[in-house]
Amino acid sequence: MKNCIFCQIVAKEVPTDLIYEDDQIVVFKDIFPKARIHLLVVSKEHVQSLAHLSPEHTSLATRMLTLLPKLAKEQGLEGGFRTVINTGTDGGQEIDHIHFHLLGGGPLPRM
Ligand code: 5GP
Ligand code: ZN
Repeated sequence: MKNCIFCQIVAKEVPTDLIYEDDQIVVFKDIFPKARIHLLVVSKEHVQSLAHLSPEHTSLATRMLTLLPKLAKEQGLEGGFRTVINTGTDGGQEIDHIHFHLLGGGPLPRM
């Protein structure tokens, strides 16, 4: 997607703090961290949001989900972590390219 900042990051047209990459996923630091550790787990394919996942994305979704605890361990988040997926306008989604937030590095406020 031409005007999508996350597609531009995936295509390496925009520099970022890359933490992990495989054939389907990139992980990089959030530019405005809301916790000491704040990573974004992003699909390489442009999918607009969680609400736009279809059965063909099952393996991608599972890989994104199972990557989270691995990243948390690598980041030293032994005490736990938070995973957030904002979806749509009312869900507070700012970037219309599916991503999971991984937050931690100290106690987070209760939801
Ligand atoms: P959303 O509100 O869509 O769930 O989250 C989007 C996140 O992307 C926000 O936390 C925001 O700080 C982050 N973000 C927006 N633009 C950029 C960018 O250009 N680079 C990086 N690394 N993060 C970004
Ligand atoms: Zn995109």
